[in-house]
This record gives sequence, structure tokens and C-alpha cells, in this order.
Amino acid sequence: MRTSGESPARDSRPHDGRTRAVVLGGGMAGLLAAAVLVRHVDEVVVVDRDLMPAGPLPRKGLPQARHAHLLMSGGARAVESLLPGALDGWVSAGARMRALPTGLVALGPGGWFPRWPGAQYLLACTRDLLDLVVRARVLALPGVVLREGTEAVALLGDVRRVTGVRVRDAGTGAAETLEADLVVDASGRGSRAARRLTELGLPVVHEETVDSGLVYATRIFRAPPESERFPVVSVQADPRLGGPGQGAVLVPVEGGRWLVTTSGTRGGEPSGEAGEFEPFLRALRDPLIADLIARAEPLTEVALTRSTVNRRRFFERLPAPPEGFVAMGDALATFNPVYGQGLSVAAQSAVVLRDALARRGVRAPGLAPDLQRRLARAASGPWDLATGEDINYPGAIGAPPPAAAKLLRGYVQRLMRTATGDPVVLKALMDVMTLSAPLTELLRPSVALCVARGPGRAGRGGPPITASELALCGLPPR
Ligand SMILES: Cc1cc2nc3c(=O)[nH]c(=O)nc-3n(C[C@H](O)[C@H](O)[C@H](O)COP(=O)(O)OP(=O)(O)OC[C@H]3O[C@@H](n4cnc5c(N)ncnc54)[C@H](O)[C@@H]3O)c2cc1C
Repeated sequence: MRTSGESPARDSRPHDGRTRAVVLGGGMAGLLAAAVLVRHVDEVVVVDRDLMPAGPLPRKGLPQARHAHLLMSGGARAVESLLPGALDGWVSAGARMRALPTGLVALGPGGWFPRWPGAQYLLACTRDLLDLVVRARVLALPGVVLREGTEAVALLGDVRRVTGVRVRDAGTGAAETLEADLVVDASGRGSRAARRLTELGLPVVHEETVDSGLVYATRIFRAPPESERFPVVSVQADPRLGGPGQGAVLVPVEGGRWLVTTSGTRGGEPSGEAGEFEPFLRALRDPLIADLIARAEPLTEVALTRSTVNRRRFFERLPAPPEGFVAMGDALATFNPVYGQGLSVAAQSAVVLRDALARRGVRAPGLAPDLQRRLARAASGPWDLATGEDINYPGAIGAPPPAAAKLLRGYVQRLMRTATGDPVVLKALMDVMTLSAPLTELLRPSVALCVARGPGRAGRGGPPITASELALCGLPPR
């Protein structure tokens, strides 16, 4: 079994009186959970079935990393509060910080958003780089041990308490048990935790899904010279049009590259054929991204994924949730990725974990059930936002939204149009979209008043891209 980091956990039990947490999954949620837990236990063992690459490189357990991964400011601030210096680490490794909406050329459902100054930002780089910087910092913390090439196969314990986990070396198949005061399942969207709890005798965990049939297709291009300051460019779907939702985003990433992701819901999916990539972009509501990449050199083939369903597992609704176990990150809730929320929810959930442990300590009775309720709350707003929109696309599968959500949808559509010309509304929208404010921010009286006044003629112009930005791509002013 391969280990790295400090003091490898060779035996299965914490030594007398020592405390141990086991984190299943060394993705963003698992790493940030480990950074928090290590302040409260003697040892944190992070179990991941992958061998971790030394650089910002792909790995099997993170297939979604081939696609655009924007980290919003609400999530980035949460990471920075847990791992001071992470932001500098990303930027010095090549990530681009783009102020919002200044550094964004975006066609929303109600028109092009102006590039006014704002308080929010996003980080543009590959997902592999985001993870690499966090991983290096977390594994350098004394007391954190990574068991890589190691798969979690079962939970230990009974209906009242999870006491550890059984793991298996992915290479040799050798099994081992790891006892723990707290097991955190952060094994991502394929998590089997719900089933493993039933193996301990617990009832089935209620699960909900909303599936718009969204497909993602991504290709990387060489960015034009001198384009380091190029904005993120996004053409979003307009749900009011009634057809499948189609969109795309161009993300400048480290290494002088542009990562372009296209997406389409059921009936409007992009294809994995290289020859169909640019035509898909050209047929969107605006062909801007097709124009921008028309002369760019492709550096990869097209990568495709269909793993985009919104799925929520309601562990907190178990009649008597067990002690010693919580699920977080994608293991708890996954969201349609076009809203760019998953990483930020994972980071903010780690802050919830930090606050709960600071109040109660890792061995406090009732910690895990209470914490699971709080983690569920952190996922709730992003879940409502993503599913409330997705269920309306043709062929979407899932429970119909409640009547209140339908009312809210009409309001949000008017708000999206108003945001193209009203600074108060645009600011509120950016705050919510970057997970820097709750969804209720959109209902604040000062915002609602502007929405009631409406958009006027705003948003009807062309893209706010400058002549010099277009010139970098050999294009004339629009
Ligand atoms: C196509 C796509 C695009 C996305 N774009 C964005 C975006 O722009 N912005 C954003 O914020 N979010 C985005 N997301 C969401 C984001 O990828 C997830 O929210 C995020 O990865 C969640 O982190 P996690 O740690 O919970 O899970 P993951 O990052 O998936 O990590 C899970 C880890 O668990 C390991 N593992 C799994 N099973 C086992 C096992 N049995 N034993 C041991 N280890 C195991 C895996 O190897 C992996 O390392 C996107 C998602 C998709 C699918």
C-alpha cells in the first residue's frame, strides 16, 4: 500500500488515546476536510484509489477535470480561509484571476452583461491545477497521511456508530481496516456510502435526481500570443426559448491555452467529433466563441461526458443518523456543472465542518448527525438553483418543482434581463452566482424594486468585447 505525507498509518487502530479521522476521497472536498480535521485529531488518513500525479495532470478518478472548472470567489475565499496562501499558490502556478463582471464577456438569457467593475471574481485554470495546489498544501500539514492507490470497500460499525472503514490496495488487493473517530465520505459523485450504510443495517438513504440529459464536450486550443489578460467568454442557454439548453464557455488556462467547453441538454447534445465542435459553437445564440477559436490550433481531441446529473442524497433525513460518519462534497450533492457551484459548495462545506468541530470537538455525542444537517443546508441553495432551472428543459427527468419555484422562475427571468442594464441587480446576481451571497439576496427589497422597474432596452447590444481583444484573434471590431 502506497503512502505519502507524514507518519504513515501502518496499523489499523489509532494508538491508545489518540484520535483519528479517515477521509474517503482525495478530491477537493476530501482534501479540505482533512485540512480542517487535522486541527482536531492526531491523525487524518486520506484514502484515494488513484495514485496522485506530481504535476497538474489528469488522473482516472477525476474524469470531469478535462472540462471547464471555474472556481467562484465564494469558494475561493472559503479555501483561502482554510489554507491561507492558496490563492497566491494558484495564481503563481498560472491561474488567472478574473474580476466579475469586468473580466467576463457573457451572453446571459436576457442579453450581454456589461463589464462593469465588481467585487467578485473567478479563478480560471484547469481543475488539475486547482487540486494540485490544494493537495500540496494539505499533505504538507503534519498529521495528514495520504493512502493513495487504496480503495474504500466497506464501512465498519453498526446502526448507531460508524467506527472505521475497510480498504483494499488497488494493486495487490490486500485488505486492511482503519478504525476512526470520524469517517468523512468525500468520494465524489460515484460514492457508495448510502449503500454501505444499509450494509450496517441502516435504512435506505432517500435520494433525488433531476436530469436534464446535459452533455459536456471540451477541446483545448493554443491561445493567441499576448492574450494573458483575455476575458472568460460565455454564451449561455436561454431557457425561455423552449428548446434544449445549449451553451459554451472559453476559459483561458495556464500554459497559454484556451479550454473551450460546449454543453447541451437532451435533444441538443454536442458530439465528440472534432469536425462538429466549431459548427456547434457557431449555431449558439451568438457565434462569438466560434469566431474566437476559428484560427486557433487545437491541442487535444474532443472529450465528452454525460455525468452531469443533479443528485442529492438526504443522509440527514435518516430517522437516526449514525455517529462517526458524514458525507460531503459530491458524495452528498452534485449539481449540473454549468452553474459552476460544486467546488465552492465543497469548500464552504469544509468551513461548516471547521465551525462545528470548533464548537464541539470530534468526539462530542451527536456531532455527526448535527453536522450532516448543517452540511445539507450548505448544499440546499445551490441545489434549488440548479434543479429549479434544469427541470424545465425538454425531456428533463425529475420531480416537478413546487408552485413557489415556478413563481420565482418568472421573477429570476426578469431579473436576468434587468441585470444587463442595472448595476444593483447585476451586483446581486454576481454575488449569488459566485456563492458569495445566498439565493435570498435576489429578493432583497432594493433588488426587487429594480426588477419591478424592469430592463428597459438594456441587453440588446452586441458583446462587450474590445477591438484589441478581437484583434488578438485576427478579428475585426464587431
Ligand atoms: C463536467 C463537469 C464540470 C464541472 N465544472 C465545475 C465548475 O466549473 N465549477 C465548479 O465549482 N464545479 C464544477 N464541477 C463540479 C466539481 O467537479 C465537483 O463538485 C467536485 O469535484 C467535488 O469534489 P469532491 O471532492 O466531492 O469529489 P471529486 O473531486 O470527484 O473527488 C472524489 C475522489 O474520491 C476518489 N474515490 C472515489 N471512490 C473512491 C473509493 N471507493 N475509494 C477511494 N477513493 C475513491 C476519487 O479518486 C476522487 O479523487 C463540474 C463537474 C463536472 C462533472
